[in-house]
Amino acid sequence: MKLLSLIVPVLNEEEAVPLFYEAVQEVLRDEPYELEILFVDDGSTDKTLEIIEGLHVRDSRVRGISFSRNFGKELALAAGLQTARGDAVVPMDVDLQDPPTLLKQFLRLWEQGYETVIGVRSRRDADSWAKRVSAGLFYRLFSRLTKGRVVPNAGDYRLMDRVVVDALNALPERVRFTKGLYGWVGFRSAIVEYERPARVAGSSKWPGWKLWNFALDGITSFSTLPLRLWSYLGMVVALAGFFYAGYLVFKTLVWGVDVPGYASLMVVTLCLGGLILCSLGIVGEYLGRVFQEVKGRPQYVIRRRIGLGDSGKKP
Ligand code: UDP
Ligand code: MG
Repeated sequence: MKLLSLIVPVLNEEEAVPLFYEAVQEVLRDEPYELEILFVDDGSTDKTLEIIEGLHVRDSRVRGISFSRNFGKELALAAGLQTARGDAVVPMDVDLQDPPTLLKQFLRLWEQGYETVIGVRSRRDADSWAKRVSAGLFYRLFSRLTKGRVVPNAGDYRLMDRVVVDALNALPERVRFTKGLYGWVGFRSAIVEYERPARVAGSSKWPGWKLWNFALDGITSFSTLPLRLWSYLGMVVALAGFFYAGYLVFKTLVWGVDVPGYASLMVVTLCLGGLILCSLGIVGEYLGRVFQEVKGRPQYVIRRRIGLGDSGKKP
């Protein structure tokens, strides 16, 4: 029998974990697949880890990795992808916003030969207005930057064949923007649309600031357009300056010297100063990420493995 692995990153989800387990059980009961539910505890400070251990004692198909601290969902996913042994692997949120009933459709399409089956959120009524608008803008921009390789409104909920998982695991980067990496590796994909329901329990772990930084990581790891932009802007500004200089020389020769000029000097100095700081900041964003990669630290630190023996691959 083939093995289906579910990768479930969890951060302080003591209420949601048992609900998730029951729901998945229910859906996959009569599927002809072996199951592995791999929880990745991303440094929870509540009872999440104990609950996972309890589930493992009752049902050995429940396994777990526990991080020594919070490393973020992207790295929890990376750890899950590196550890899961399934022939098909599905990352899922524990809060049931990725409806388990979709797994059946995913499996059917996989059986038809698709290497990736992507869950696409057709409506996000459960999310706030601000989140929908910002997410919409981000996906539009990001899909431009990556030349359409990223499917808009697709989250992490997707089924991936072993070949796809191996391809993802072969990517060495530390700053991982998984949504972009999926598109980068390619493969034949099918799409399943679904409506995203509200969280079953607990609260969202993605405040606005974290999302903004996440978006920055995404853009800087997949595009150098923000860096190149400054060359063009520089050219435009230099050209304008050149013409203005010509005009000034001409004016001085024809009409003589005329002292006022404080306002124009201030405007030019302030605008250019601002632009130069912006461009430095953007170069800094990239430099910071280069620095993180170059340090070569491990992506995450594992405190414990539950039900994995030593056979799970080390990062
Ligand atoms: N999560 C995590 N580490 C984090 C933040 C979130 O492992 O630093 C997990 C969380 O427990 C959940 C999933 O990632 O299973 C999605 O998080 P959440 O539901 O809070 O995000 P939202 O659905 O609001 O975008
Ligand atoms: Mg959620």
